[in-house]
Amino acid sequence: MCYLRQVCYVYESCGHVYPMPDQQISCDSPRCKFSPMHPKSCHGASCKQTCKQYRGHPQQYSPQIAGFCPGCAKSH
Ligand SMILES: [Zn+2]
Ligand SMILES: [Zn+2]
Ligand SMILES: [Zn+2]
Repeated sequence: MCYLRQVCYVYESCGHVYPMPDQQISCDSPRCKFSPMHPKSCHGASCKQTCKQYRGHPQQYSPQIAGFCPGCAKSH
């Protein structure tokens, strides 16, 4: 099932957190409305019966970035 990944960079040196644009993660299933593998011919009532109509829960992704954030890097 497809879901959104909410990305936040955490900069180790200053501890600041920078939110990034959400990423769409696709499941590549033909039985999921949001998948790129979903056939264009599948829609309407039949799609509702055979395919997932909802995205999964968003997942948080917070990689640690070594160094200072862009804002703090300017003043260093
Ligand atoms: Zn999916
Ligand atoms: Zn469908
Ligand atoms: Zn900072």
